[in-house]
Amino acid sequence: MASARQIRLLPPELQNQIAAGEVVERPASVLKELIENALDAGATRLRVLIRDGGQSCIRVSDNGCGIPENELELAVTRHATSKLSTIEDLSAIRSFGFRGEALPSIASVSRFRLASATHDGEGSALEVLHGRVVAIGPAAMPRGTEVEVQDLFANVPARLKFLKQPATETRKCGDLFVRIALANLDVDFELLNGERTVHRFLAGEDLPRRLSAIWPRELVDSAHHVDMADGPFSVRGLIGDPATAQARGDRILVYVNGRPVQDRTMISAVREAYRGRILGKEYPQAVLFLQLPPDEVDVNVHPAKTEVRFQDEGTVFRLVRRAVAKALEACTDVPPLTENAAHFSVSRSLPVLPVAPPQERAFADAPVPARPDSPLYEQPWPRKFSSSAAVQQLFETPAAPVPPEPTPQRSPDPAPQPEAALTRYLGQFADTYLILAGSTEITLIDQHAAHERVLFHMLRTSGSRGDRRPLLMPLEIPMHPSQALLVQEIWTQLDELGFSLELATEPKLLLHAVPALLTPSKAREFLEDALTDKASSMEDLWAVMACKAAIKAGDVLTPDEALALIESWQSLPDRNFCPHGRPVTLRWSVGDLEKQFKRRS
Ligand code: ADP
Ligand code: MG
Repeated sequence: MASARQIRLLPPELQNQIAAGEVVERPASVLKELIENALDAGATRLRVLIRDGGQSCIRVSDNGCGIPENELELAVTRHATSKLSTIEDLSAIRSFGFRGEALPSIASVSRFRLASATHDGEGSALEVLHGRVVAIGPAAMPRGTEVEVQDLFANVPARLKFLKQPATETRKCGDLFVRIALANLDVDFELLNGERTVHRFLAGEDLPRRLSAIWPRELVDSAHHVDMADGPFSVRGLIGDPATAQARGDRILVYVNGRPVQDRTMISAVREAYRGRILGKEYPQAVLFLQLPPDEVDVNVHPAKTEVRFQDEGTVFRLVRRAVAKALEACTDVPPLTENAAHFSVSRSLPVLPVAPPQERAFADAPVPARPDSPLYEQPWPRKFSSSAAVQQLFETPAAPVPPEPTPQRSPDPAPQPEAALTRYLGQFADTYLILAGSTEITLIDQHAAHERVLFHMLRTSGSRGDRRPLLMPLEIPMHPSQALLVQEIWTQLDELGFSLELATEPKLLLHAVPALLTPSKAREFLEDALTDKASSMEDLWAVMACKAAIKAGDVLTPDEALALIESWQSLPDRNFCPHGRPVTLRWSVGDLEKQFKRRS
């Protein structure tokens, strides 16, 4: 048994070294504290030098307000800060720092020098070795502060061991530097790695310009602006186009009142807004700045201050999701089909749909036409989904009937239309893509993805009213016992979709009726897919059903079927992505083509 020992207060160096364990994890965290101090001091110019990934040297110089000589020692004393004096101040904090522990922590695990001047030419400097002040004296320098941290963790071998290769630590410092620079556009920033300038940001640059240091050019060029306010809450920033989504989840950069944070609420709101526009395994890239009253957020959750807690998480989530979704809606879209199509040489003989204004094309509210007694189902199973009657049955609304042939009364010289509004259907390519020519761009539509979107929308808006097609002979599907369990879990959803099921022992599933949209064989595929994907929500099940019921790549479409599909698809919200998040269209502008043909660089 251990013998009783006397209780003693730890010496200040040791207290600081222990605190350093929380604040100073690696060179990049030192850099973060030093840059934030400089910004708190009102600096407009910041110069950073690192050597050996920051381990041998990190130096930050600024032109901020400086520290008076008689406060230098206080600056490296624990719990000494100029930014907070009462507990009430904590709920209205506007500075990055407030805990008064960064400098003493850093100074306790390094060779540390702090030089500062509140006026040009008059300054003083202080040197600390592993937490003990070793020198203090005058130093001539311009107004501002310079902090130099050398041999970080030399006295804490356990920490030193955890540092990565210098190249990795350098990259982490660079990432941190850029993250802060993105939020402080009016400040001039420079980062040197040894003698080499890594980043130079001029004061007054805009966000896209600074972002081009870390984002590929195409991503910045195609990014969408976010800007939305709700009372004293606001969010703004830039988000990547869904087409530029990628596999890494750490490229959603969020800030709260200018502070770079890791915040799950904001990040999941961003992902939620992209849902259905990107694949499940993809992540968008985004930079978002949330502003809110300081008393709405607790920044004192962790010593490193990279986490925050919101008073009202729900409001933050909804605002961010709405703001991002709105920016995504503004993604470029194919203009409606034009009646002028009949006068385009290639499509002269094609029937053309009258383009009804959107409110008249509310086919979403029209009853689902495919009922068990509809002529569609009188045809023998299985039938290839390529007759115009079928497409019209499924998509057409009473408001937008398809004329079988070009109407004779169409004037050969139509009134000129605004150029941008013209889109003509040119034909089907590879029995899979529908080609549209606009006045300034050419578009390919993936017929399967477009039809999936139409059917998904139809299922979602007209509700799953359980239109079902009774089968004369029940269809038997053998099941693994685990699948039988899954089926039971989604039994009510399947019933809502139009299945009449019976679970027999063995186990096997008996289908007495299938949803009106599916042929019996598609119904079987649907069940197999739904069980494999473990689809359980109605949304998921509708997506699987839309996929099964939609025309496939390789199905030949007549021009009127293609036009009916395009028309229906164009009246949808969220039409640019299939329910699984794959793009429905690919587009090339005249400019894109000129570039590819090297007519223009
Ligand atoms: P905190 O930032 O939480 O106050 P720090 O230990 O980081 O604690 O800094 C202690 C104090 O030193 C700050 O409150 C500030 O008054 C002063 N200080 C630190 N860095 C600078 C700087 N670059 N310019 C002016 N004052 C500084
Ligand atoms: Mg600080």
